[in-house]
Amino acid sequence: MSEELYREILIDHYKQPRGFETLQDDEVSAEGDNPNCGDHIRLKVDREDNTINGVTFDGKGCAICMASASMMTEKMHHIELSEATSFSDDFIAFMRGEKDLDDEELGDLVALQGVRQYPMRVKCATLSWHALRKALS
Ligand code: ZN
Repeated sequence: MSEELYREILIDHYKQPRGFETLQDDEVSAEGDNPNCGDHIRLKVDREDNTINGVTFDGKGCAICMASASMMTEKMHHIELSEATSFSDDFIAFMRGEKDLDDEELGDLVALQGVRQYPMRVKCATLSWHALRKALS
């Protein structure tokens, strides 16, 4: 895939974030802050025993932060808790350049791989995933 296509996927998620809805304070499972960029998001995890039915989020952030959160909600749809936890860890490691994941596992998240070379932006891309890990632990 080309850089151009990655950018299109990213912008699409930013402009029409999946799983975005205004949350009530008592619904918030976890939140994440990235003061360097001004990103702030909150997550609601709809969980039943060991299955995650879905994740929704609200907040404000840069294109990378919002797109990554949007992609996360697509990935966290009817998924086992253990799978969600291990994928989150893998994705954070992937963004830090510590692990490789193939395109199929990544889905739309593959569009964020170019961000790996910018450490400040890696924090934007992993903010929602760190919040998810907090919510799941
Ligand atoms: Zn950001």
